[in-house]
Amino acid sequence: MNLIIMGLPGAGKGTQAERIIDTYDIPHISTGDMFRAAMKNETALGLEAKSYIDKGELVPDVVTNGIVKERLAQPDTEKGFLLDGFPRTIEQTHALSEILQELDKSIDAVINIHVEEDVLVERLAGRFICRTCGATYHKVNNPPKVEGTCDRCGGHDFYQREDDKPATVKNRLAVNIKNSEPILKFYDNANLLHTIDGNRKIDEVFDDVKNIIDQL
Ligand SMILES: [Zn+2]
Repeated sequence: MNLIIMGLPGAGKGTQAERIIDTYDIPHISTGDMFRAAMKNETALGLEAKSYIDKGELVPDVVTNGIVKERLAQPDTEKGFLLDGFPRTIEQTHALSEILQELDKSIDAVINIHVEEDVLVERLAGRFICRTCGATYHKVNNPPKVEGTCDRCGGHDFYQREDDKPATVKNRLAVNIKNSEPILKFYDNANLLHTIDGNRKIDEVFDDVKNIIDQL
């Protein structure tokens, strides 16, 4: 089965992806892993990608798409694959359709782990740090035993990193939502989209994922 998994940061996509590849024994094709492998194996495209990454620049779509095509042409994808982190834009979505056509493959399902934005903000923006000793906490998942007092040093002075502040998190989500909306629409029009409520226990979410895959 050829799958794509989608979900906003904090939605639990990574956890579900791990369960899928363990249960169905298909390769996990994530953009990060693909880049690392292409650079390690020093393929022409890998070296090209490295030249951009080393300069701190974004890797152009034409290079990314080439790396995806190389990866999807590997024999281990014959029994299926799980694409994760690609496509990230509607341009990449169209490119993926072309790549799959050239490789005589097609997508069987797009699994979208959906969690409401305000829940994601709570999950992602909950981290705070003790200014005295650097211990990290999370408002919901890992609060200090006594509210307002650091477990480790007894300090009362906490701060949030810029990346963990609600405004920054909301911006990051907004960019992700803007990019993913046309992709979801594209796959919905193709009758491939399955949206799952990700705001439940990991096992419950995975039960839904399994139901979808088992019906393919
Ligand atoms: Zn402390």
